[in-house]
Amino acid sequence: MSGLEGVKPIMRVRELARAYTMGEAQVLALKGVSLDILPGEMTAIIGRSGSGKTTMLNLMAGLDRPTSGEVWFRDQRIDLLNERDLLKLRQDHFGFVFQSFGLLPLLSAAENIGIPLRVRQFTRAEREQRVQEALEWVGLTKRSKHRPYEMSGGEQQRVGLARALASQPELILADEPTGQLDSKIGRQIISLLRRIVQERGMTVVVITHDPQTIAEADTIYELRDGALFDSQQ
Ligand code: ADP
Ligand code: MG
Repeated sequence: MSGLEGVKPIMRVRELARAYTMGEAQVLALKGVSLDILPGEMTAIIGRSGSGKTTMLNLMAGLDRPTSGEVWFRDQRIDLLNERDLLKLRQDHFGFVFQSFGLLPLLSAAENIGIPLRVRQFTRAEREQRVQEALEWVGLTKRSKHRPYEMSGGEQQRVGLARALASQPELILADEPTGQLDSKIGRQIISLLRRIVQERGMTVVVITHDPQTIAEADTIYELRDGALFDSQQ
């Protein structure tokens, strides 16, 4: 299946549904959602709190199993993979950015960035080179030895981006990356994500409720109560 201009999607989501059971009650967090993620684009998925954004991102990342529906990464149906293959897929192809940065407090910026590289088959020299390059790319070479508490929120999130970048993933999945930052610092993070797409050729899916992000995205979808809508600006 092809996208609009015959570009093959990097990810395809088909009729994705996820129900959570809470005692007797069922919450239908996603109600049969379909979309294509095109390579080399920044796709934003917006929506109010509770609209199903995180549920959707976790399913796209293979961190959760759908109740029904399919998630494809290139030619591979990932919702059917076992845990081991999913872990490998995530390590080899996906990068993650979190709202709360997800840094380990006792490790330096450089060490945090190096964590996802440790499970890969890189030599120590390759790892160090990738860490330095990622630090440089987010403009934090001078903070390499700083621990998270010695950095501002914006700097911590730049370390978060560098960590996602260092393994040179094809797809970066970001869940409200500016959610804990003021709007000026948030804009810096969004523009770095934009440059990751533009200059590094990676594909970014950013989940956000921040309207500011919309201006930078190539494609925008809106989740409303578990249903997806095309959102023309
Ligand atoms: P968003 O990220 O857009 O704020 P979520 O995907 O986190 O939304 O949640 C969508 C809906 O699913 C909400 O009603 C939420 O309460 C519910 N939900 C999310 N995770 C769980 C869970 N683990 N158990 C039960 N309900 C959940
Ligand atoms: Mg969320």
